[in-house]
Amino acid sequence: HPIITLNQITKVYTNGTVALQDLNLAIPESQFVSLVGPSGCGKSTVLRLIAGLGRTSSGSIDWSITQQARKLAFVFQDAALMPWANVRENVRLPLKLARMSKKDSQKLVQETLELVGLEGFEENYPRQLSGGMKMRVSIARALVTQPNVLLMDEPFGALDEITRSKLNGDLLNLWLQQRWTVVFVTHNIYEAVYLSNRVLVMGISPGRIVADVEIDVPYPRDD
Ligand code: ADP
Ligand code: ADP
Repeated sequence: HPIITLNQITKVYTNGTVALQDLNLAIPESQFVSLVGPSGCGKSTVLRLIAGLGRTSSGSIDWSITQQARKLAFVFQDAALMPWANVRENVRLPLKLARMSKKDSQKLVQETLELVGLEGFEENYPRQLSGGMKMRVSIARALVTQPNVLLMDEPFGALDEITRSKLNGDLLNLWLQQRWTVVFVTHNIYEAVYLSNRVLVMGISPGRIVADVEIDVPYPRDD
């Protein structure tokens, strides 16, 4: 059953841009759904509205879980790491902000670093890391909060094809273990088809869903 339902969403920005019009979308729990479509069709707007960053102009977003049970994490194209902090400190940041003690967060941070392939890089600073490794840190910083919904906005958009394909493989393996609900924005249709259970193609002027395609995945699914 859906964890998130977007009902007749319209988003008009204050400058008059109609970013989304009458958008309906139900996302089942543990689905990996990709949003693809031309620049400006409203993909980021959908993610931001799901994240609660900005209001809908009309329509509603309904959740099947309470606000307390809802643990969202956001990953952007720009890894946005703290340059003065090493990998371990960057990943610990959300736990620190949630006032978890260093002692309590230590194990969780280390497990998460290992999960995303950053063991051995704990002491490195962002400037010493490649783009792909920086993105791993950014993903670790999201996963350390143990989210049930992962929102990703072009996370691999700035990476070369080889790094992107390696990270895609690792992300898919992680998803197969963890089964978060994922909403993944990408320009890359191949990436969307490789990763997702479902691809939503969006169209422009106004932003809306023009195709909703289930992907027949080669691994077992619960539904
Ligand atoms: P809202 O209509 O939801 O109140 P605003 O119009 O206040 O949003 O814009 C929020 C922020 O987004 C502003 O800082 C604005 O400069 C920025 N922004 C404006 N136009 C765009 C755009 N086309 N794409 C991305 N961000 C934009
Ligand atoms: P996408 O992620 O598909 O590129 P966006 O959701 O960023 O699309 O933008 C959808 C439309 O809304 C675009 O026309 C964009 O310029 C506009 N837009 C996005 N953010 C803002 C903002 N804060 N203020 C005004 N217009 C915006």
